[in-house]
Amino acid sequence: MQRVFNFSAGPSMLPLEVLEQAQKEFVCYGSCGMSVMEMSHRSKMFEDIKNRAEADLRELMQIPDSYHVLFLQGGGSTQFAMVPLNLMNKNNKADYVITGQWAKKAAEEAKRYGNVNIAASSQDTTFDRIPKVEKSACDPDADYFYITLNNTIYGTRWTKLPDVGNVPLVGDMSSSILSEEIDINKFGLLYAGAQKNLGPAGLTVVIVKDELLGNAMEFTPTMLRYDIHAKNGSLYNTPPTYSIYFAGLVFQWVKKQGGVAALQKINEYKAGLLYDYLDQSDLFRGTVVKEDRSLMNAPFVLPTEEMNKAFIAMAEAEGFVNLKGHRTVGGMRASMYNAMPVEGVEKLVALMKRFEAAQK
Ligand SMILES: *Cc1c(COP(=O)(O)O)cnc(C)c1O
Repeated sequence: MQRVFNFSAGPSMLPLEVLEQAQKEFVCYGSCGMSVMEMSHRSKMFEDIKNRAEADLRELMQIPDSYHVLFLQGGGSTQFAMVPLNLMNKNNKADYVITGQWAKKAAEEAKRYGNVNIAASSQDTTFDRIPKVEKSACDPDADYFYITLNNTIYGTRWTKLPDVGNVPLVGDMSSSILSEEIDINKFGLLYAGAQKNLGPAGLTVVIVKDELLGNAMEFTPTMLRYDIHAKNGSLYNTPPTYSIYFAGLVFQWVKKQGGVAALQKINEYKAGLLYDYLDQSDLFRGTVVKEDRSLMNAPFVLPTEEMNKAFIAMAEAEGFVNLKGHRTVGGMRASMYNAMPVEGVEKLVALMKRFEAAQK
């Protein structure tokens, strides 16, 4: 069976090379006579897999020694609670910028534990942009300032970080980790669920500055305390061992591509192909303001719902799947994570051109 071009927003396409390597090692890893899935998480063999994954991620993202890297479970959504439980610990308040569903959910969860100030929101324009953050709307006493770096559903991203002074910046980068260079030093905490750019679902990577650890709210469940996981090297309990192993293979693949800077160039090229066509098309239209366009997720629409349906059906018949947009935006969404080859986007644009020509 032929592999399709999978434009899913997540779980999403993984590099074929990595899938094939995992397949080769599926039954017997190295010389140990068992699958990674069957290995004790306390074994030397697994310890090496985990340590190598962490070292490679540190190298790829230039993570300083003053940050912990944690391999946790519970997806991005568990971080919506872990962040306030662990960090809303001085003045019991935090600033949030609402740029879409994920930011909204994170803010709602944080409200259970303290005072949430909405510093800015683009809800009134259906999240078609990153809103301006006015200094006067920010709380200088906030325990942290929360943003979603790439908005998976609406297709926007922060290209310039807000000026937050000394307030620790917290970023959800579930859908953009390893897709473009970022300066970790600007953040107190960053996190990402694995299923978009890193590997199978089940793993959540948290990168947290050491000085923010150790002040979790008194009633925080043990499993939701960053300091417990940090102290135990992500082995307080059984971590998602296979997902960590797989993410480790993806990190090695990213290194082979030339690292994050090289992938960013390719991602800019891929996204550029699609956006340039959207800008010149008389039929297809992007739904996001140009300056805030995501490199990973590009939503676009046709003039009528019937045309959207016809295009999605035509695409599917030709091996381009999961192009249907999120139910709150409608139309189409092409997710082009690191593993989407340039060829996939080139062929998608060619298909769109054919569709447009056939309408005339
Ligand atoms: C997918 C996603 C989430 C939710 O992740 P789960 O692992 O399903 O909890 C959160 N934030 C962003 C930006 C996402 O893209």
